[in-house]
Amino acid sequence: MDFDLTDEQRRLQNKARQFAQNELLPHATRWDRNGEFPRDLVRKMGEAGLLGSTVPREYGGLGTDRVTNGLIVEELARGDSNLSLLAYGTLYEMLSLASEELKREWAPLVAKGERFLGIALTEPQSGSDAANVQTRAERRGDVYLANGVKNCVSILNADGWTMLARTGTQTGPRGISMFLLHRETPGLIISSPKSDMGGRAVPRGSLTLEDARIPAAHLMGQENHGFYYIMDTFDYNRALIGLMCIGAARQSLEETIQYVQGRQSFGRPISTNQGVSFPVAEAETYLELARNLCFKVLWLRDNDHPHRKETAMCKWWVPQICVEIIHQCLLIHGHYGYSQDLPLEQRLRDVLGWEIGDGTAQIQKLIIARELIGKDFVG
Ligand SMILES: Cc1cc2nc3c(=O)[nH]c(=O)nc-3n(C[C@H](O)[C@H](O)[C@H](O)COP(=O)(O)OP(=O)(O)OC[C@H]3O[C@@H](n4cnc5c(N)ncnc54)[C@H](O)[C@@H]3O)c2cc1C
Repeated sequence: MDFDLTDEQRRLQNKARQFAQNELLPHATRWDRNGEFPRDLVRKMGEAGLLGSTVPREYGGLGTDRVTNGLIVEELARGDSNLSLLAYGTLYEMLSLASEELKREWAPLVAKGERFLGIALTEPQSGSDAANVQTRAERRGDVYLANGVKNCVSILNADGWTMLARTGTQTGPRGISMFLLHRETPGLIISSPKSDMGGRAVPRGSLTLEDARIPAAHLMGQENHGFYYIMDTFDYNRALIGLMCIGAARQSLEETIQYVQGRQSFGRPISTNQGVSFPVAEAETYLELARNLCFKVLWLRDNDHPHRKETAMCKWWVPQICVEIIHQCLLIHGHYGYSQDLPLEQRLRDVLGWEIGDGTAQIQKLIIARELIGKDFVG
């Protein structure tokens, strides 16, 4: 086993760390408070090569592996987990299924932060039951006419989304196709952002399709195979979600370590109490374990090994443990931690959302149980 990073990985990790500390951390609270998306700064992230790192060089990216992408996401999340979402390599991974023409048009812009992509899967009646897609897309010559509602779309300000719609007659996972849905599609209505408790710098909301005219050339991959593509994308995404949560928790822990050395009670630093120092030691242990699990998944994917079970472990356990770590950090800061003067309460709200987004803990445990025991023996 080799836990060493390459020089290139270290370079990008440091670059992302510097960017996060200098450009994101000082402003994250303001973006949260105002629900503000810092468009120019995101472009700067792109220019620095921190977005779309996995986009191949021939399409204008750095062509990194997924482990490197994970390092970047983790570091950016220390500054602001919300914006680190835009650096997910999964955005390109989905685009790689598109036609050569679409890839040539989109990939260089995705790599530079000039365009973003999101995922539009969830519908009012189908979240956990993700294959129960009711949005329909009917082929009419050169276009698909799409009708339905996607009601929980992160990156609502994206330029496009990979959108799942039923094209076949079957129910369940078969008969669902994946499309690149452009923001300017006629018949697409974009809602105003939802007022979620966290994740406020990057808007989330609904897309309504009313006879939306999607060019047939925007079909991604094969017709009726879309559900399998999106599930495969989630296998990568779930490890990145873990690393994003770890970034926020790691930053909180480092701030807490500083705080406990300086804050005095009963005439001595609060760190001299084991009730304070042990949660710090436990948090470090959990972060180390969580990090190893997430990077193992990325390594497995980079090396074409199966990783569905391991990535589901990342998704159910890592956000949960990161919420708990940030919670402990907040408590150790006393009232200062509970107030909006410090970023801890925001991080708690932001990370909590990822116990739900991309599949809840219950659904991940179902995936693990099915892999272990067999689909026919598990509900
Ligand atoms: C921060 C955030 C970001 C998101 N981003 C996106 C996005 O970009 N694109 C997108 O399409 N969607 C997105 N979502 C939606 C998300 O994927 C769904 O909310 C999630 O899959 C859960 O679906 P639901 O909310 O409909 O809950 P439900 O499916 O109604 O589940 C409600 C509860 O019942 C439990 N439950 C349901 N079925 C079972 C079962 N069989 N066994 C045990 N328990 C069960 C669930 O675990 C949950 O606790 C996001 C959500 C959040 C919070």
